[in-house]
Order: sequence, then structure tokens, then C-alpha cells
Amino acid sequence: MAKGPEKCDVLLVGGGHNGLVCATYLARAGLKVTVLERRHVVGGAAVTEEFHPGFRNSVASYTVSLLQPRVIADLDLHAHGLRIVQRKRSNFLPLPDHRYLLTGGGETEPQVAKFSRRDAERLPEYERRLEAIADVLRALALQPPPNVTDDGWWKALPELVRAGRLGRRLHALDETLRQELLDLFAISAGEYLDRWFESAPIKAVLGFDGIVGNYASPYTPGSAYVLLHHVFGEVNGVKGAWGHAIGGMGAITQAMAKAALAAGVEIRTDAGVREVIVENWRASGVVADSGETLRARAVVANVNPKLLYERLMSPNVVPAPTRERMTNWRCGSGTLRMNVALSKLPDFSALPGEGEHLTAGIIMAPDLDYMDRAYLDARVHGWSKEPIVEMLIPSTLDDTLAPAGQHVASLFCQHVQPELSGGRSWDDHRDEVADVMVAAVEKYAPGFSASILGRQVLTPLDLERTFGLIGGDIFHGALSPNQLFSARPMIGQADYRGAVPGLYLCGAGTHPGGGVTGAPGHNAAKVIISDLCCWRPCRPMWERRKPRSLYPGTSYRGLRRSTLRSTLCQGLRHNATKPVLADS
Ligand SMILES: Cc1cc2nc3c(=O)[nH]c(=O)nc-3n(C[C@H](O)[C@H](O)[C@H](O)COP(=O)(O)OP(=O)(O)OC[C@H]3O[C@@H](n4cnc5c(N)ncnc54)[C@H](O)[C@@H]3O)c2cc1C
Repeated sequence: MAKGPEKCDVLLVGGGHNGLVCATYLARAGLKVTVLERRHVVGGAAVTEEFHPGFRNSVASYTVSLLQPRVIADLDLHAHGLRIVQRKRSNFLPLPDHRYLLTGGGETEPQVAKFSRRDAERLPEYERRLEAIADVLRALALQPPPNVTDDGWWKALPELVRAGRLGRRLHALDETLRQELLDLFAISAGEYLDRWFESAPIKAVLGFDGIVGNYASPYTPGSAYVLLHHVFGEVNGVKGAWGHAIGGMGAITQAMAKAALAAGVEIRTDAGVREVIVENWRASGVVADSGETLRARAVVANVNPKLLYERLMSPNVVPAPTRERMTNWRCGSGTLRMNVALSKLPDFSALPGEGEHLTAGIIMAPDLDYMDRAYLDARVHGWSKEPIVEMLIPSTLDDTLAPAGQHVASLFCQHVQPELSGGRSWDDHRDEVADVMVAAVEKYAPGFSASILGRQVLTPLDLERTFGLIGGDIFHGALSPNQLFSARPMIGQADYRGAVPGLYLCGAGTHPGGGVTGAPGHNAAKVIISDLCCWRPCRPMWERRKPRSLYPGTSYRGLRRSTLRSTLCQGLRHNATKPVLADS
């Protein structure tokens, strides 16, 4: 491991994709940045690894849509080797009676009409409304949300301006859409879809997005937002589409790592952090697992806020309101993730043979009531005996992952308890539950289990151990209305500034939340640059790279002016404010 400089401007804890994005923007603004990643590889939950000899796959995160086009462009990810292809079909829902629904490819409406002509007729209006609302979310994703502050007018002013801008965006929606947006934040995915459609298969396909990574029933209030969260992405300019990164999700983060290195970021792997140092009420460095102490002007955490405040910081330096919030931080996805090496493609009874349906997200859960029962069963037993499985076979789109003629599949399985009840450990039930998941696929594709050459199983406990995802939470905290937007991670910290001066957050536990988006990393960088780079150049003029705008089309001079303005309004906080202290 190369030894880095003794003191840099920014120490970034965690080399997940958001950490890499944030680090790159900071380095391009002239800051000296060191990323410290606990694992042997950067990328966090978006990595590709060999899990069986000759077979590679995305280990955890497995499909791409939410990655912000602006981040792709700013970091020149295509120039660094990233290639994303769209699925040929969106979703395939085989049914127990051997009928099926296959969406995408311009065939969705006739496919839905097989089950209900009325639903097929309503689909375009459903999509138009959701798209208009998703446009608002898209626009908000790359901006810090208004931060609620108790301090003086000089800090409240920029937040009011931000709230005003938000109001303007919402005003652009007509009355019906505004009401719909409100509903989407409050009601369940099931209730929302029941209003629109009468046939079960289309509701199952759309409703799956409401429970994915969300330990909830599709009829749990708030799950409609999770559905919405999964539609604000795009692939190669096609809104709402999902795709595959050639080489797996690790190809995204390897391209990001190259961009970071090109910008001058130092990346250290096998470099876990065990403590964030707070001195004189300010974050001033970290202690690595190796015992090494590193100092910096700022510490940025790419990890789940709960991990940061409860495990990496002494309770004595974490203000009481933050400790209380973290105690109540709802965290824990009910998901189990499997990768399987296959000797041949699965053959579905509902649609035998090979075809474009095998490039789709294959959802094995026929209706919303089934999904509801899966959740209730997991609540009672620890896992559902009739689970919800989404399978993706990326080797149908990408021949770099498996030997010729063979395949890899990702299985994303819900629901399981994040932490097993009754004192049981996931270590004792991993294989038993994996067998349940395989059996669920076997029902629809006989011969599937016999085709498995090798498998990798990640329970919620494994996700926590491997990636630091507390409770296996894929989003670093549930996407419930009380944990979103200005309340993510908590009221008063929505501007990516942490509980003590000099500390920032840039991971999925901040706005706009989980998924491989790059948005939290982008937004946090904007704030950190405004705090660290305004009063004096970050590096001497002769050492600075050609300045790159955070936004293409914005002049550097414009950026500096706005930076100065925002710093005058809010940046003083980190130099002048003494935090509310924990009882010590
Ligand atoms: C099973 C699963 C499936 C998913 N599927 C999808 C999907 O298909 N599409 C999608 O868009 N999203 C998906 N997601 C969600 C998405 O992957 C995450 O929300 C996203 O990766 C979060 O990115 P991040 O950079 O904020 O944090 P992370 O990716 O969690 O990265 C945090 C990094 O911090 C490191 N770290 C932790 N503790 C320390 C420490 N003490 N010191 C140093 N480093 C530390 C970790 O090792 C990790 O590298 C999935 C997630 C999971 C787990």
C-alpha cells in the first residue's frame, strides 16, 4: 500500500461509488483528497468479482438506471471505459398457470391487454403522470434539499431561496399531479396501483419496485415513494429504462476510480477507518484500522450515517440529537442476494426456449397479495417460504462474465428478516434459505437447480460484514418519508454537513438516497467546495489543474462567485458554530 501525504485537505472514509464521485469533484476543484477504503477493492456495493472459477458477476447491486447523466458526463466515465446497454425487454413475469406478461420493446400495451383491455388503455396516462412527477425528482436529485436551521437569518436565507426554487418546481405541476405527488409520498404502492389498474400481472410488475430493498408489504404506507424512486432513472437517454454495465456494476466504479486517479485523488484500499478524530469540537482526522493517524481539514463519510455516528465516533463527541436520531434510524432491507453460475439458460414453462425475455428483469411473484404474504411470512418466520425473486441473467447481454455457452444470474430475493428473530443467526440458515430461493425459481423454470454449477449467497448479515451495510440495508437507511429529502439523514444535516464542523456525509444515507446514482457524492462535493475553497485557493496557483466546472456550461468564475456568496451565507457555520454537545 502506497504511503500518502501526512496531511491532506480531505480524508474520505469509504470508496463506494458516491465516495469516488465526491473525491473526483473535490480534487478537480484543487483539493488534496485521500480515499480510505476498508475492502481490497473500491466500489462499495457496486463491484464485480469472480464468485466461481471462470464466472464473474456484480456482487450486490446488479442493474443500472439511476446513475445521473451529469455525473457520467462530468467524470468522463465513457472515456474511462464505461459502456451501458439497455435490456431488450424490461420485465418478464411468468405466472403459475403458464401465462406471462412481458413488458418493454414497444409491446407493453398489447401484453397488458391480454389480461385487461382497460388496463392497457390506462397505461399511457399512468406513465405520463409518473414521468412528469419523476421529472421533478430528477431535477431535485442534484441539489441539496433545503436544510432546516435554528440559526440566524444569514443561514436561513439560502435555505429559503432553495425552498422557493422547490416551490417553483412543484408549481410547474398541475393540481392533479401535485395531489398525486403528495399521495406518492404517503400511501402504499398497492393502494396507488389498485387505483389505476384491475389486473394482477401489471400491478405485480410495477409494484415490485415498491418493495425492492424495502422490508415492507406493497400495502405498507410509504411504499409508493419507493416505487417512484425506482423510476427516476434513465439509460442512454431513455427515461425510466434499466440497463446493464458491460463488465457488471464494477465497470461503473472502476471507471469512477480511473476518473478519481486522473484528477489526482489518492486511493488506499485495505485501509479501514476505525475512528473519526474530533478535537476542539471539529473533525480533524481519522485513525485507520492499522493504527495510523491521518489528519485533514475535513473528513467526509461515505458510510451509512448510523455506522458513522454509532461505530466510528465516540458518543462523547456526537451531539445528543444526532445520537437519538441514529438510535431511531430505520435501517435494514429484507433482502438476500445470490449469484449463480449456470451450465445453461433457464427454460421457463410460460415461455420456453431462448429469447429477449431472458434479458429482462424476471419477476417471480404473481401478484401484490403474494408479495404481501411474503412480507408477513418473513415477519413471523424469518424468511418467506414463498419468496419474491427477481432474476437477471446479465450474460445474455454481456459475454465477458461467463465462459462461452454458460451463464451467470443475479437473484435478488425478498423478504427475509434483516436480523433473524429468536436469537438465530444468519450464519446457521444461509444455505437453507438459499435453497428456498432456488426452489422458487425452479417452480417457473424446471431444471434450474440442476443447472447451477456454483453459487454465492449474501444474507443481510453478509451484506453488513462485506460492505458495511447495516442490517443489509441497500439504501443506507429506509426510503420512508421521515428519512427523505430535508430529513435525510436528519433535520439540520440535509446540507451534507455532519454533526460537528469539518465533518461531511456523501453516501446513500443523504439526499436523494440509495441506488447507484452518484447524486449524494456530487451534492456533497458542491457543499464541501463552497466551505473549503472560497477564502483562499485550495492549492497555489502554479499547482492547480485547469479548473473544471462542477456543471458543464457554467464558467469557473461563475462558480467561484456563487461559492463565495453561499459561503458568506452559510459557510461560517463550520468555523464559528460550537455544536450542541453530548453529555459527557
Ligand atoms: C444487494 C444489493 C442490490 C442492489 N441493487 C441495486 C441495483 O440493482 N441498482 C442500483 O442502482 N442500486 C442497487 N443497490 C443499491 C446501491 O448499490 C447502493 O445504494 C449504493 O451502492 C450506495 O453507494 P454508496 O457509495 O453511498 O455506499 P456503498 O456502496 O455502501 O459504499 C460504502 C463504502 O464504504 C466502505 N466502508 C465501510 N466502512 C468503512 C470503514 N470503517 N473504513 C473505510 N471504508 C469503509 C465500504 O466497504 C464501501 O466500499 C443494491 C444494493 C445491494 C446491497
